[in-house]
Amino acid sequence: MILPKFRYYEPRTIIEACQIMAELKDRARPLAGGTDLLVNMKKGIVSPESVVSLCEIQDLGDIESSGTILRIGACHTISGLAASDVLRQRFRALSTSSGSLGSPLIRNLATAGGNIVSARPAADLPPSLMAYGASVILKSASGERILPLHDFFLGPGQTVMEADEILSEILVPNPPPGSGAAYIKLGNRRSLEIAVVNVVSFIALDDRAETIRKSRIVLGAVAPVPLRAVFAEQLLKGEKPGDLLFHRAAEAAASECMPIDDFRGSARYRRAMVEVLVERALKTALKRAENWPGEE
Ligand SMILES: Cc1cc2nc3c(=O)[nH]c(=O)nc-3n(C[C@H](O)[C@H](O)[C@H](O)COP(=O)(O)OP(=O)(O)OC[C@H]3O[C@@H](n4cnc5c(N)ncnc54)[C@H](O)[C@@H]3O)c2cc1C
Repeated sequence: MILPKFRYYEPRTIIEACQIMAELKDRARPLAGGTDLLVNMKKGIVSPESVVSLCEIQDLGDIESSGTILRIGACHTISGLAASDVLRQRFRALSTSSGSLGSPLIRNLATAGGNIVSARPAADLPPSLMAYGASVILKSASGERILPLHDFFLGPGQTVMEADEILSEILVPNPPPGSGAAYIKLGNRRSLEIAVVNVVSFIALDDRAETIRKSRIVLGAVAPVPLRAVFAEQLLKGEKPGDLLFHRAAEAAASECMPIDDFRGSARYRRAMVEVLVERALKTALKRAENWPGEE
């Protein structure tokens, strides 16, 4: 497989990149790590006339943590996220999901922005980011907008982004004290595997660590987009955490998902695994919330 011919642009600033995209619109595609785009171009699935590399735009590679928010530049690599101490200490589910994406070679090239924009239903990062309440900044020549990631995905490979927009940054609020989250990915093998099912459970306890103040359960690979299991979340809210409650929430999550049969697994298997994994992830999230802020 060889790449078809295309025009190549290498802007140095986000403004320059936005201007090029404004001129070329859907005749061009931004290029980050290329682990998705270049493969699809070789296969003839997409054939843009032009490719606009984002790799030389320095700001897009940054990661910055403040007292309230984590800002991840869209071109920050997945291996950078997996190696981050800040993620390991404060955003455990995001750290685990980054470390389970593809292989070391893929993680060295692949970027956070690319993982989001490619909008694969089984992608590793979106469920964790959604569980932490992340938003994305979309820039174009005419300005910028900030969108909750929850509102970003429309279907497999489809998002609300306009053809001339570039995802510049991902904003992740710091999780509150007394909270914990866990990511579990089920694949048919241990590495270089797209998820058959992936789940994240996030819970925040009240000030006395007695009841669940807030929860988010996000499911991947069981719907056209990463899915918040809202009924399961409602079941948990205001309740005292415990095995029976977690079991009921996991059952609710399984009833909310919309899996399909494919070569990786049947819909029935996927639904059954959602129940098992959500319950497990809730138990781990609770342990982490109770041990806040310490590492396990
Ligand atoms: C062997 C292999 C294994 C893989 N395993 C996994 C896995 O386990 N889990 C998983 O989730 N994925 C996996 N992937 C898919 C892919 O590696 C990831 O989705 C990766 O994060 C994509 O990032 P990238 O920077 O390479 O994106 P690119 O390929 O550069 O771009 C992907 C898409 O997003 C657009 N884009 C990229 N960045 C931006 C931006 N900042 N603004 C606007 N548009 C943008 C591009 O135009 C393109 O349409 C795998 C891929 C391969 C080849």
